[in-house]
Amino acid sequence: MTEPTAHPAGTAPGTAGPAAAPPVVVSTPEELSALRPSLGRIALVPTMGALHSGHRRLIAAARADADSVIVSIFVNPLQFGPGEDYQRYPRDLDADVAACAAEGVDVVFAPTVEVMYPGEQLVSVDPGPMGQVLEGEFRPGFFAGVLTVVAKLFHLVRPDTALFGQKDAQQLAVIRRMVRDLAFGITVLSIPTVRDPDGLATSSRNAYLSAEERTSALALSRALLAGADASVTGPIGILTAARAVLAEAEAATPPVAVDYLALVDPGTFGEVTGEYRGEAVLAVAARVGATRLIDNVPLTL
Ligand code: AMP
Repeated sequence: MTEPTAHPAGTAPGTAGPAAAPPVVVSTPEELSALRPSLGRIALVPTMGALHSGHRRLIAAARADADSVIVSIFVNPLQFGPGEDYQRYPRDLDADVAACAAEGVDVVFAPTVEVMYPGEQLVSVDPGPMGQVLEGEFRPGFFAGVLTVVAKLFHLVRPDTALFGQKDAQQLAVIRRMVRDLAFGITVLSIPTVRDPDGLATSSRNAYLSAEERTSALALSRALLAGADASVTGPIGILTAARAVLAEAEAATPPVAVDYLALVDPGTFGEVTGEYRGEAVLAVAARVGATRLIDNVPLTL
């Protein structure tokens, strides 16, 4: 791992562009603290690495409102359940640091599990009722794991702003709620979902998909688009249109196994009824082969 280095003369933190210095890579809270006085206003982009175009768009957005951008890279064991993909989750720190360099990131914080969780983590953050539905129902403990690591990263980095993708809309909503309910005093910003040209939302987990599985997986974004196209018809019409696409995909080879399709209030993640008007999120989760994918689209009803 690269040792912390001072920014070379003339390349102040926050100076983006092709000639930007490579990021300083640190792995401990002490190294972060030593750097902190030179960083000014900090924007934090928490990630699990295997950086792709979605992460890069987040990093680019982070630049807009900060003197320095810190990207954290940590595959958080607390948010993986038994039998999930913690062991096989893609890890490539060198490629991630190169991607961060290309985006003009100032600091990469890449702690080990021992640094983040030096002892048994007895205390964790309870996501409340929003953490029990949809992803929370299919991945028990997931949001407690996410909030616990995000809270810890916030305390270690002490950023002014933190950026998250709307790709993980329920995660974004639960984090916003934690920041509000526990008065973190951090501004949470988000960006729209970045998609490949074929419509598939970019994800580190897309690397698991075979060519055939990827073709089947395109049904997720197609279903969301069909739902969005039906938005004037209200909740039932939206869900019917999206379900029709997913039903075909469930019969395809390889099949798409749908965990849920739901139209929810973006603030609470409660399902909306036929009378609902306003902002909504149409969210889907499905498995294709051994890969579990999530996607969503914002709608105005
Ligand atoms: P991850 O590394 O999967 O934990 O994601 C780190 C951050 O990147 C989260 O805030 C995600 O919501 C965001 N992100 C992941 N994929 C995308 C995407 N396709 N578009 C926008 N943001 C994304």
